[in-house]
Amino acid sequence: MVQAVQEYKGKIEAVLYCPHRPEENCGCRKPKPGLLYEVAKVYGLDLSQCHLVGDAISDITAGLEAGCRSILVLSGRGAQQLLSWEARRLSGYMVAQDLQRAARHIIREEMAREAAPPASEPIGTQRKPDYGGAWGAGISSLRKESVHGP
Ligand SMILES: [Zn+2]
Repeated sequence: MVQAVQEYKGKIEAVLYCPHRPEENCGCRKPKPGLLYEVAKVYGLDLSQCHLVGDAISDITAGLEAGCRSILVLSGRGAQQLLSWEARRLSGYMVAQDLQRAARHIIREEMAREAAPPASEPIGTQRKPDYGGAWGAGISSLRKESVHGP
């Protein structure tokens, strides 16, 4: 995965995973946000300024819990996940058709943020932009540097 991304000039800073079994009830298995807190600590990230993109409601749950701007992509498992009761119960996340659309949104948001001071977005609203495409993977935390990479 890291190499495939590098071939397209992308950069993955870290790959983290939960080594535990569900019955161990650890804090790092999604939907718990332990891995996000860990990566924030290692890289000195403000999670409220980070985007989380995932194709599972457990990704989104973890992202929201950690205060990330969370985007569910409909590719991979995403479309099926969106129909689940957990997805209906959650709010405050965005839905994108695929990773490319999610990335475009993130870049637009970052450019707007650089142009103007951050506007406070209402929490608890689920915006569904008109997106379209195909991707499936777990959690990715995109940092500004990697979005604006060469
Ligand atoms: Zn774990």
